[in-house]
Amino acid sequence: MNKLYGLLGHPVGHSMSPLMHNDAFTHLGMKGYYHAFDVPEVELKEAVDAFRLLNISGFNVTIPHKVAIMNLLDEIDEEAVMIGAVNTVVNMDGRYIGYNTDGRGYLTSLLKTIDRPLHECNVLVIGAGGAARGVATVLANEGVALLTIANRTITKAIEIKDNYQSYRHANITVVSMSEAEDNLGLYDIVINTTSIGMSPNVNDVPISIQHAKPSVVLSDLIYNPILTKWLIQGEAKGLKTHNGVGMFVEQGALAFQLWTGKYPDTERMTELVRKQLGGFTC
Ligand code: NAP
Repeated sequence: MNKLYGLLGHPVGHSMSPLMHNDAFTHLGMKGYYHAFDVPEVELKEAVDAFRLLNISGFNVTIPHKVAIMNLLDEIDEEAVMIGAVNTVVNMDGRYIGYNTDGRGYLTSLLKTIDRPLHECNVLVIGAGGAARGVATVLANEGVALLTIANRTITKAIEIKDNYQSYRHANITVVSMSEAEDNLGLYDIVINTTSIGMSPNVNDVPISIQHAKPSVVLSDLIYNPILTKWLIQGEAKGLKTHNGVGMFVEQGALAFQLWTGKYPDTERMTELVRKQLGGFTC
């Protein structure tokens, strides 16, 4: 019998997760089917109750439910608790266990791009929303040399730092956007986790790269467009760049592995996503 998996979000019409996961089930010869469920915030509890009733084998959770889902689960993995959000739920003998694969997915993708150990890298995270929490937590857990967070609303960056340090010690600093811009030369990896660069802000950049060091890696979580204006500026300057396609694929692959015990072919997944986005190189 087919096992049913899903995505809970609102809206979900644009999601490439069904394409990616259903192809992986077929490619691996597994009986699984993944469907995107469009569920508004007020119906989240009913949707999870219905999933339990139908014994849904596992699901992803996306905007706007990544935090609210946590109260509806039976157990939450330690890193997801530290991040404060869940994007993957596994049905373990009728109990729903929450995980967060966004941060680990990002890390797996980043490690394919950088050629220095993370513990030697000073990292600047721009932004302090949900995605920043996952990325910052995992990078701090990996032990980067310095982790700095800058955000338009600085109190949100301070919240991420304080939250992390309530669990573990790490060298985390918070700076204003203008301080980050002036001191950009300090950083080996600069990560844009804001939505600046995606529609409707495709002509904006999150931070000036005027003071970036030549060996810096510019990393943008955005994958649509595949190359944001910021990454195009970086490439024009000869800087190494890294886009969000890898994170999207790897977070999905890690979720698939949690559900099935099998790690899917991520090159195949990347190719599918790339084609769906219009065939650009990524
Ligand atoms: P979010 O929780 O809404 O956070 C948005 C962040 O962007 C906040 O830091 C916000 O700053 C900042 N921001 C938004 N508009 C801004 C503006 N005009 N000027 C300055 N700062 C602005 O969103 P999220 O879930 O973290 O997602 C952020 C981005 O990551 C999105 O582009 C999303 O597509 C991408 N993402 C990619 C993946 C992937 O798999 N590749 C996964 C998750 C997310 P304030 O705090 O000041 O409002």
